[in-house]
Amino acid sequence: MDDAMQTPVEDVSNKILSKQIDKHDAMRLFQSLDKESQLQVLAIVRGAERLAPANAGKGATRPLKALDQRDLTDEHRAWIAALVEKYDRFVPKSKANVLEHQVHFVDQRRAFHLLKDLKKLHFQITYTQADGAYVHDADGNKYIDISGDMGVNLFGHRPPFLIEAVKHSLDQGIPLVGYSDMIFQACKLFCEITGHERALFTQSGTEAVMFAVRIARAATGRKKIVLFDGAYHGLSDAVAATRDLAGNSFPLAPGILQESADQIIVLDYGDMAALDTIERMAGEIATVLVEPVQSRHPYKKPVEFLKALRQLTIEKDIPLIFDEMITGFRVCHRGAQGMFGIQADMATYGKIPGGGLPTGVIAGAAKYMDLVDGGTWRFDDDSMPSSKRTGMAGTHSQNPLKIAAALAVLGEIKRRSDEPAPDGTCACFQQELNRKTTYLADTLNAFFREQRLPVVIDTFGSLFRFRFVDSYWGVTEALFFILLRMEGVETNIQGNCFLTTAHTDADIEAVIAGVKTSMSTLKGSGFFLEAEPEPVQKAAPPPEATVSAIQRSGHAPGNEIERLRALLAADLALAEDAGEGK
Ligand code: PLP
Repeated sequence: MDDAMQTPVEDVSNKILSKQIDKHDAMRLFQSLDKESQLQVLAIVRGAERLAPANAGKGATRPLKALDQRDLTDEHRAWIAALVEKYDRFVPKSKANVLEHQVHFVDQRRAFHLLKDLKKLHFQITYTQADGAYVHDADGNKYIDISGDMGVNLFGHRPPFLIEAVKHSLDQGIPLVGYSDMIFQACKLFCEITGHERALFTQSGTEAVMFAVRIARAATGRKKIVLFDGAYHGLSDAVAATRDLAGNSFPLAPGILQESADQIIVLDYGDMAALDTIERMAGEIATVLVEPVQSRHPYKKPVEFLKALRQLTIEKDIPLIFDEMITGFRVCHRGAQGMFGIQADMATYGKIPGGGLPTGVIAGAAKYMDLVDGGTWRFDDDSMPSSKRTGMAGTHSQNPLKIAAALAVLGEIKRRSDEPAPDGTCACFQQELNRKTTYLADTLNAFFREQRLPVVIDTFGSLFRFRFVDSYWGVTEALFFILLRMEGVETNIQGNCFLTTAHTDADIEAVIAGVKTSMSTLKGSGFFLEAEPEPVQKAAPPPEATVSAIQRSGHAPGNEIERLRALLAADLALAEDAGEGK
């Protein structure tokens, strides 16, 4: 990036200081600057950090630091050992189940986020029942479920309208080859709610993304796929790549070919400079695939970027795909597209419209969807399907059982969704759920600030995530989720949490109380430390002067840069743990 285009130093510093962006993005932004600007940013950030305690009088506002494995003392280890004993008494059957059945049962999640010092606490819970806002486990514990079934669950467990529809479908039998009346209705309703022209069902979200990309390649005859850093689009070879510091794409996991990754261009999300790359390479790009608000980074909502991206892709005739797997039907009945007022050429869905049964959906403009079946040609005239058609099939794509569930869910969404307000704002029922989520986040964020805990809850609609701002999956964070479970609140180790319409105000208050208790226990037990103060300098000079002051002080900026580099490297290593999108 040349100097004329780089983000101003002030903007970069502000973003880092206000923690609007995470370390990963901070590092990228930082690296996009020339050396002199990097020094200025370091000076500003370090100057502000030093000033913070003085301004607050006694350093009371400086956040504490969450512990990592390397910070553990013998006292911490003894505390963990006592917790292990308590936890063993809390969920003995779940633990025994994992030990007994791992011989035959393979599950990648078993090793996900494993920390050596917490290995004895690291096993999945066996559920026996789920009802409304609650799940029950094999040991008789009942939890308020905020895992949201990885985003599937919008109406709570076993809502009667869904059970009835699925039972009815079972009673009717589940033939797979012919059409059913339900599939016609479901696709019509899907298009009506989302504003797309045509829709098809797939067997999973991964498959929906994979096929949507194939449609785009078939439509354009081009190869390259643009996607954005920090997004998750399932693990098909078509999209499973990330990039190194030099911007080269590489496969997300062993077994995925470099040749596949070579077709993928991974760009910075929300960075207008990414648009220049797209413009420059437009002739090679089959599609731009975007998770409009990334479930791993819900605080990033780059609406202006998305609008500019939409405009550019129209100008360059590049099909734009929104992956609304999590945002679809959750943040608004028309998903992120409805909320931001941007219509993609195709959008991929799954999760909510499956009603708990496995599904994916591709919906989009007829121009693209026609490449699957040749368009709406007729039997009663001379029309014929277009000759250019791509390949797409799946034994269970239209399985009547899941189509019954989809139809029931879509019907419920339609029934509950009001028309958009005349001023263009959306009045759909999801807004109420979004407000409740904001309340939960605001209440807890205030508590975290007051307690100086380095934790923030980020939200998008009724999706929320706990973000430990100075570490990623350190010991304290891992322990927090164990303690929260023991307080009767069940989450998902991957980190995405959700509210559903089944959560009552009392449930939400109980979640808040559980979080407060768990965090307070950790704080009281020494799992949040005073952050190491920066070595004292006289005063924080103005940015220009501090550059040379840092150089004089013996704080080689290179070390700071190395520190940031190390943080970034840790993040990238974790990104390789590709199962986390689940
Ligand atoms: N795209 C996004 C944005 C997702 O969050 C996921 C799953 O979490 C997928 C695609 C893959 O969907 P599935 O797990 O149904 O295959």
